[in-house]
Amino acid sequence: MSSILQGICGSPGIAIGRAVVIGNPLGKVNRRKLDPAEIPAELARYEAATQRAKEELRAIVSGLDDKPHAHAVLEAYALMVDDPLLKTSVNRWIEVEKHAAEWSVTQAIEELAQQMGRATDPYLRERSRDIEFVGEHLLRAFGRDREQLAATKHGSEEHEQSVLVARDLSPADTAGFVSNSVVAFVTERGSRTSHTSITARALKIPAVVGVTDVTRAVSHGDRVIVDGLRGIIVIDPSPEELREAQVRAEKARARSRDLATTRDSASRTRCGVELVLRANVEVPEEAKEAHDEGALGVGLYRTEYLFIDRAHPPTEEEQLQAFASVIEMVHGAPVVLRTFDIGGDKFASTFKLPVELNPMLGLRAIRLAEARPEVYLEHLRAMVRSCANGDVRIMVPMVSSLAEFRWAKHMMLSALSQVRAEGFDVPREPPLGVMIEVPSAAILADHFAREAAFMSIGTNDLIQYTLAVDRASRNLAYLASPFDPSISRLIRSIVEAGQRHQCPVSVCGAMAGDPLSACLLLGLGVREFSMEVGAIAEIRETFRRVDLEEARTVAKAAFELSTATEVEAVVRRMFEPRLHDLLTGDDDPVEET
Ligand code: PEP
Ligand code: MG
Repeated sequence: MSSILQGICGSPGIAIGRAVVIGNPLGKVNRRKLDPAEIPAELARYEAATQRAKEELRAIVSGLDDKPHAHAVLEAYALMVDDPLLKTSVNRWIEVEKHAAEWSVTQAIEELAQQMGRATDPYLRERSRDIEFVGEHLLRAFGRDREQLAATKHGSEEHEQSVLVARDLSPADTAGFVSNSVVAFVTERGSRTSHTSITARALKIPAVVGVTDVTRAVSHGDRVIVDGLRGIIVIDPSPEELREAQVRAEKARARSRDLATTRDSASRTRCGVELVLRANVEVPEEAKEAHDEGALGVGLYRTEYLFIDRAHPPTEEEQLQAFASVIEMVHGAPVVLRTFDIGGDKFASTFKLPVELNPMLGLRAIRLAEARPEVYLEHLRAMVRSCANGDVRIMVPMVSSLAEFRWAKHMMLSALSQVRAEGFDVPREPPLGVMIEVPSAAILADHFAREAAFMSIGTNDLIQYTLAVDRASRNLAYLASPFDPSISRLIRSIVEAGQRHQCPVSVCGAMAGDPLSACLLLGLGVREFSMEVGAIAEIRETFRRVDLEEARTVAKAAFELSTATEVEAVVRRMFEPRLHDLLTGDDDPVEET
């Protein structure tokens, strides 16, 4: 019988595939003492399992032809299976401690992961999760003979695609595992604005996040339906459930094909108010898709993706190359380069970050830049040099005081004069904007509006910090509502500050890419929206069905009402019937009376 697990909609869409489980607990193995006579056979069993695990990993790698990052990760795993340190330790547990091979693997992996977890080198610390994955893979290779494995891989479901099921995925994992054969993500951690969800939406892959204990509930090879529209997964679906999911998936695909036909039309409301829709991108290739979707350039390039999962920062030239390719792909439209936002849930092994009790409130983004000015200067030099290629604007994240913004400006001007002195042609000083995503900056928006070239509201963090809710927390996700009246008030005051000082204001958090909250933003005075590439067509269509006066009416309600539930109810009542198809993927819009 099938079972249904409820999670949080991380990224819309419906996909069906076989589960590839990363992060099954290692603790399920029974402890068994060996008779000395059994030892040689047990050593041989371990060796055979090692070979099988390696073969299986290499088989996955060969299915990921065009994804170099995933290749590198899985190749590294295949090497780790063979690691001499691991082998010595497992052999010792078998020969000296006289434990069965599976238990010995568990012990050896635990020891290694603990050692790595304690390492002072953050790169090694991050890798401790990988060694656990390798251990899980090894354990799965026991007890299965080749025929069984072959049957799973080459049986009647030969070309069935994979659903990645994990406790958590780093932004690099998410981006890296995208391939034609990985069609959806499911994680135990995360919320709608955690980076797994953001990346999945950017890559247009359905994702359900925050599913409690999913790595225990799902086994490797189970068939799973991932319904990113309803936020559920169905394990071992019945033929009936499978058929229904296939129909819904086809409808969702047809809808996105329909929406794609509007990509060349201007973005405006039903009553004709012109709007600007830009794209948020994480990897340069997305910029091409953004352009194809009709986005007016890139409103947020999360440049920190260049820094993650590597032992040293990228060179100035490497960075310049990435920026230049994004600029080229949007054919002259603006590109907003955000200086790296590392720390918080975007932990980068590149930097020696201290272990903090509250990383979200710690050494993150501009604070990290101040701690590593030489890296920041090089980063800014690459950004400034890229101005020669197009309409580049630079933006500073996580700013909580004017002093931080002024320091960033000082660094940008130093980078500019340095590169000019070296003979690089930088035609103009790039506009330097600020992200308003910390409540103190929102409260002081009028001061920022005087000094910054533009302000971009990061609603993901603004909600997290205003409501004191960890954006990655599954259990508290219900508190982090974009409809909370406190958020509307802050956004309105930022918009007004921008208007008073002729400082353009945009929104680049997830509120801009969600049909209902985008309508609220419209009513609050926002005219420029930047969102994941996958949301552009949907938001363009949303606005085509909405009048400004209606949006203003709901924004007014947000000021008069006192709770998120009340505000959300008003927004839904006004817009849900006509946006029903976009919100649920179920049916055509409901006719309004
Ligand atoms: C935000 O905080 O809303 C934002 C756009 O930045 P990020 O999600 O990368 O923190
Ligand atoms: Mg942010």
